[in-house]
This record gives sequence, structure tokens and C-alpha cells, in this order.
Amino acid sequence: MGLIVAKFGGSSVASMERIRNVAERVKRMKDNGKDIVVVVSAMGDTTDDLIELAKQTGPELSCREMDMLLATGEQQSAALLALTLNNMNCKAVSLTGWQAGVRSDANYSKSRITNIEPQRIRQELEQGNVVVVAGFQGISPEGDITTLGRGGSDTSAVALAAALEAERCMIFTDVKGVFTADPRIVPEASQLPFISYDEMLELASLGAVVMQPRAVEYAMLYGVDVEVLSSFDDHPGTIITEVGNMERQRIVTGVAHDLNCTRFAIFDVPDKPGIAKTLFRGLADAGINVDMVIQSAMRDNRNDIAFTIEENDLHKAVPVVEKLVKDIGASGMFYGNNVGKVSIVGAGMQSNPGVAADMFEALADANINIHMISTSEIKISCVIDEDRIQEAVQALHKKFALDHIE
Ligand code: ADP
Ligand code: ASP
Ligand code: MG
Repeated sequence: MGLIVAKFGGSSVASMERIRNVAERVKRMKDNGKDIVVVVSAMGDTTDDLIELAKQTGPELSCREMDMLLATGEQQSAALLALTLNNMNCKAVSLTGWQAGVRSDANYSKSRITNIEPQRIRQELEQGNVVVVAGFQGISPEGDITTLGRGGSDTSAVALAAALEAERCMIFTDVKGVFTADPRIVPEASQLPFISYDEMLELASLGAVVMQPRAVEYAMLYGVDVEVLSSFDDHPGTIITEVGNMERQRIVTGVAHDLNCTRFAIFDVPDKPGIAKTLFRGLADAGINVDMVIQSAMRDNRNDIAFTIEENDLHKAVPVVEKLVKDIGASGMFYGNNVGKVSIVGAGMQSNPGVAADMFEALADANINIHMISTSEIKISCVIDEDRIQEAVQALHKKFALDHIE
């Protein structure tokens, strides 16, 4: 019998009425003769609400206790879904991440799954149960509860699909699939029937929250076919798979944006070997992820270095950069989080010159100033003012005629 892993995100289980809809859909899949493992997120904004509650306890928030708290959101929805299924005469059992064998490292709040021991899930399936697993959580080697980073239920689902050798991992969400841009920003965005792992990984890493990047990495590593689809209707979704399975390669597949971005500039950095090492090693040792880096042309044996980090890391980064500025003998620094990143992604870019020029032209025509640029084989990103992001996404979507993708 085929096995399906079906993940339902926060908006899909936001109320008891929605949980009942989910239960009906799961029951239909089960009645069609499939073994079903369901992965759920916390109901609606529960995770945000729990974070707000924790903040009321004071300024010091231990990561271990935060994970203990946040994991309760998914346990609540898992149990409610199992209860609903049982009341519909569909045998179901809910499991926490650790009961389901999800082992992780001890890096609280952004822990990674290290392996899955799926024996308990298999036993429950053999007994005819739908298995409802609380997403977003694992257990560390010390036996503590961990969480997998925001949006981590996607990763729970794909990792379980890999471990159980499921025929498909279905990610049910509040949009019909993966679109050429966030449909909330570009209403005329087109739904993609297929997208390659590479392109989806870029889009997700560049801000398209529809899939957690780590989930796409997992899918790519283990060759899991993923379908992203709506939990509110029965339309076919978007298949994320190998390039070879795709109908054709597009030059530009999508536009992504990311507002979680802060820019630092360090002035008059001495131009000598070892400076970049000291600076970026210092940031890495403090657990701060650096995204883009730009070094200006040298004048008088000094240059300026600008870089971006996640806005969430700003408080942690400021004292670290202030100290590093002194250590390397720079004259000062500046930072601002009124910037965002807009990116285009497409596997066909590598063989089509002029895509970057087209992107810069679209931004210039909209009178949008570019602060930083970075490119790779299949993406181009620009840092611009945050209040121009929406316009930029719309202008790029139009420039590359993404409303016409079949
Ligand atoms: P869930 O709670 O189901 O995990 P998320 O809010 O995490 O849902 O992800 C779905 C959201 O992703 C959509 O509502 C949409 O606004 C956003 N999104 C951003 N970029 C894209 C894109 N390219 N295609 C589809 N949705 C996107
Ligand atoms: N509930 C968690 C979050 O809000 C995990 C998830 O939804 O995937 O980030
Ligand atoms: Mg999500």
C-alpha cells in the first residue's frame, strides 16, 4: 500500500472548522487505500502568541525553555486532529516529534534533524492508524525538546517522507501552489505546474516562505517528490522535483523578496591581508549569518566593506561589529534595517546573457536605487530600500512576463 505524508500549515488548522475540513480530506485519502502520516503546524498564529507570552516573563529568554514552550503549539493541533479523526470513525493516533523518532542536534530554535527512527510510526500504521505527527519539533541527544526554525513543519514532513520512503510528500497550505511571486504582492502571479529543487531552494532561501529552505534541501538530498497545494480546494498544486522531470526550462521562474534584512557598512578598513578573515570569523563565532558582502575600490590603502545579515540578528550583531571595527582599525560603522532584498531566480539564466541588464533596467525604470547586488548561476539579488520592495517585485514580474507562464 502506498504511503503519503501530508503536512497542513498553520492557516489550514487555524480553527476547529478547518481542523474538521482537514480531517475529512485525510479520511478521504485513507479511504482511497493509502497509509497516511499527517504532519501539522500549530493553529493559526499560536507560535507568535506563545512568543509574545514568553516575552512577558522578562528580558532573558532561555532557548531551551522557549523550545519547550513553542513545541506545545503543534502538540495541541496534532491531538485535536487525531480526536476529530477518531470521532469520524477514522482510527488515528497523535505523536510528538520525539515519539515519532525525530532526532535532532541541540541547537535550540534552529535545530537540524539528524536522523529519524520511524519504528513507532510503522507500528501505528500497521495497526491501521492514521499517524498525526506534531511538526517543527525534535529531540536532542540529551533528550531535550528542540524546534526546527520558523516554518520547520515543512522540514518535519519532508524528512518523515524520506525516512518512510513515502510515494509523495504533500504540503497543504493557504495558496494553490508555488507561484511566480508571492500572490499576496502580485495578484496576477502564475501558478507553476513544476519547479526544480534548485530553483525552489533559491526561491525559498531568498524569502518565498511557502517552503522552509531546509525542507527543500532535504527533498533534494533524498529525492522526495513534493507537491505544494491548497488545503481549501481540490486543484492540482505545484510539483517540486528533478529538472529532468520538468517540461521545459524557463529563463526566469520567479521573483522573491525578503524584508528580514539589515545592512552594515564599515568605513576606512585597512587594505591588507587577514582583515576580511578577522571580521567575518568574528561574526561567524557569534553565530551571525552574513548574506551579501561588498568591498569598495581601494583609496589611500583603505576601503569600505558593506554586508547584510538577518534583521533578527541585529541586536546580537551591533556590539560584535562595534568591537570588530576597533580590532581591525576601521574608522567607524553604520547600520540600517530599512532595506530589503529582491531577487529573480531561473535555471535558464546561465545560458541567456542580458538577464541582469533587464533586471537593472526594470528597477531603473521604476526609479528604484540599488544598494547592493549579488549573483549566482541561477539568481540575481539586489538590496534596495524596504519601502520600494513591493513596487520592485511587481516591476520585475512584469519585465519578465511572468504572468504568462504555463
Ligand atoms: P503555512 O502556514 O501553510 O506553512 P506559510 O504562510 O508558511 O503557510 O506559506 C504560505 C505563504 O507563502 C502564502 O500565503 C504566500 O503569501 C507566501 N509566498 C511567498 N512567496 C510565494 C510564492 N512564490 N508562491 C506561493 N506562496 C508564496
Ligand atoms: N508553528 C511553527 C511556525 O509558526 C512551525 C510551522 O508553522 O511550520 O513557525
Ligand atoms: Mg510555512
